[in-house]
Amino acid sequence: MDYPDICIAGAGIIGLSLALELHRQGSRVTVLDQGEPLSEASWAAAGMLAADDPDNPQELYPLSVLSRSLYPGFINRLFDLGGVAVPFHTSTTLQEVNPDRAENTRGLTLLAPEPLSLLLPQLHAEPHRFVLLDEHSVNPRELAQALLAAVRATGIDLRSHTPIRMVRSRSGGIEVHTSSEILTPSRFVDCTGAWGLTAMPPGQVRTMPRKGQMLAVELPRSFPLHLVVRTHSIYIVPRTTGAHAGRAVIGATVEDAGFDKTVYPSEIARLRARATELLPALADAVEVETWAGLRPSSSDGLPLLGQVSERHFIAAGHYRNGILLAPATAVVMAQLLAGQKPQVDLSRFSPMRRG
Ligand SMILES: Cc1cc2nc3c(=O)[nH]c(=O)nc-3n(C[C@H](O)[C@H](O)[C@H](O)COP(=O)(O)OP(=O)(O)OC[C@H]3O[C@@H](n4cnc5c(N)ncnc54)[C@H](O)[C@@H]3O)c2cc1C
Repeated sequence: MDYPDICIAGAGIIGLSLALELHRQGSRVTVLDQGEPLSEASWAAAGMLAADDPDNPQELYPLSVLSRSLYPGFINRLFDLGGVAVPFHTSTTLQEVNPDRAENTRGLTLLAPEPLSLLLPQLHAEPHRFVLLDEHSVNPRELAQALLAAVRATGIDLRSHTPIRMVRSRSGGIEVHTSSEILTPSRFVDCTGAWGLTAMPPGQVRTMPRKGQMLAVELPRSFPLHLVVRTHSIYIVPRTTGAHAGRAVIGATVEDAGFDKTVYPSEIARLRARATELLPALADAVEVETWAGLRPSSSDGLPLLGQVSERHFIAAGHYRNGILLAPATAVVMAQLLAGQKPQVDLSRFSPMRRG
């Protein structure tokens, strides 16, 4: 039989971005997903490319900066391949910081009250607690459409509703078991996000779901919002172009609830109340949608990027930043799979670390 060079488990943004990168390098790639492609965390996200978020772990910074720099090329390539454009919806984020923790701001200047009030007169917060970040956002659902169109245009073998039951190393190869066949690619990459197909020995880092509930509102006409507003407990991300222009996404809860994706009106009300406290104009905003997604977290909050055994690799656990980190993850994982030194040091993300 004709088996792929590389088999990827999981058709989220991580698995499909990697598939495109490997295809570009000439590999024959098969991607299997247990459900529909891009219908889990990669669909549920807010879409902030938050490389400078002070709440991110410091260890993520080099990968985040690389990914941010790759983004324009990444979305241009999706357009060239599949013909679907991915616009940036915002280019600025008003970020709350703790001024007592200088290391958080990475040298950014705190905003003086005057420019801040010019920027967003409706903000109810202490101005000295905010910085302005040069940060973009995308709509993950537009990104999903573009990524899927690009993957389909390449002829990458993408199979929906094909859960991988087991992966087993055997002498000189690796077996990928579905319910109907056993694939024997030369290498396998686990990109199953929160599900974590790769069995980790006790004490070793592992992936786990972290639920996030969110809502979208129609902004009042009197309150056009063109930047992201983010505190340590809430973010408001406007959509500024396309079919959903004039809406804003408000998120998100962070919960350990297993694989439960139920949306609870009490949690949505709490998010709304917090957002309205910050931006009182949101009191008049009409709720248009609620949903929940499962962030792929890990036992130490860092992604797992690397080699598990000779032919078995993993790229998972991107937690709150998988939309941002997808282009860089694809590049460094493709380098690793090609036997090259990744351009960002991945030792801190080793899947063999203790967690
Ligand atoms: C509420 C919320 C807000 C977020 N906001 C942002 C944000 O603003 N910015 C940002 O950068 N990130 C954000 N994220 C995080 C981001 O969405 C994730 O880090 C990213 O989508 C992870 O991508 P993934 O491909 O690893 O996982 P997923 O998109 O979850 O894909 C994993 C895939 O693996 C498949 N799978 C699982 N098990 C198997 C199996 N056994 N066989 C075959 N397939 C399998 C699943 O069906 C799924 O399709 C947010 C996440 C949530 C939930």
